[in-house]
Amino acid sequence: MMRRDARHLALEQVGIDGQERIAAGTVLLIGAGGIGCASAAYLASSGVGHLMIADFDTVDETNLGRQVLYTPQDVNQRKAEIAANRLRALNPDINITAITKRLGDAALASAVELADVVLDGCDNFATRFQVNDSCVAAGKRLISGSAIRMEGQLAVFGPNYDNRPCYRCLYAEADESMDSCAGNGVLSPVPGVIGTMMAVEALKYFSGVESDISMLHLYDAAATEFHTLRIQKREDCPACAR
Ligand SMILES: [Zn+2]
Repeated sequence: MMRRDARHLALEQVGIDGQERIAAGTVLLIGAGGIGCASAAYLASSGVGHLMIADFDTVDETNLGRQVLYTPQDVNQRKAEIAANRLRALNPDINITAITKRLGDAALASAVELADVVLDGCDNFATRFQVNDSCVAAGKRLISGSAIRMEGQLAVFGPNYDNRPCYRCLYAEADESMDSCAGNGVLSPVPGVIGTMMAVEALKYFSGVESDISMLHLYDAAATEFHTLRIQKREDCPACAR
C-alpha cells in the first residue's frame, strides 16, 4: 500500500482489503474517447493494477474538446498509445497495455478472459454487441456507458447472467440514432460524467460494494436529473437466454 492510496485506505467501504483487490485487478477498457478518457484517468489514479485500453482510432482535432487525455500535439497518433503514456505519468506503479488493433471475436475473447471487469465506452452498436456477447460467454462484469447530446446512460451487467439481463436484453437491435456524436453533437463533460460513474462502478465491484445491478441509469444533463429503469431479462435474448 502506498501513500497515494491513503484516502481509499481511510474509506470504510474500501480499506486495505479493497485497495489490495483494486491493485490486483485488471480492467479492459473498450474505447478511449470521451467516456474512456475519464474512466481511465480515475482507474489509473486509483491504482487498478492492470489497465488494458483498446482503441484502434487516432486522435482527431474534433476529439480535443472532450477527450481530456489528448493534446493538440497528439492529433493523428494512436489514441490507445497516447492514453497509455498519459496514464503512466499519472500513476507509474500500475501496468498499462495499449491495444491498437481492431479486435476480432477471438482476440476480444482473449482480452476479456484476462479482465475482471470490462468497461465499454465505445461509440457504435456493433462493438457493444460484440463486447456484450464476449462478457456473457466469459461470465464477466460489464459496465456500459454512452453519451450523446445532453444525455448519458449507464448500466451494469453480470458477471452471472443466469437470471440477470445483459446489454442485448436492453437493446435487441442497433439504435442508429444513438450511434454518433458527430452528427448529433454532445456537451463536452457529459461523457466525462458517465465515464467517471463507470470508474466508480468498477471500483465498487473490486471493493465488494454492490448496488442493485440490472438497472439503466439515464442522465438528463439539461434537467440535471437521473432516471432509473429496471432492465428486464429477455427470454429470447440472442446472447444470454438459455
Ligand atoms: Zn440478454
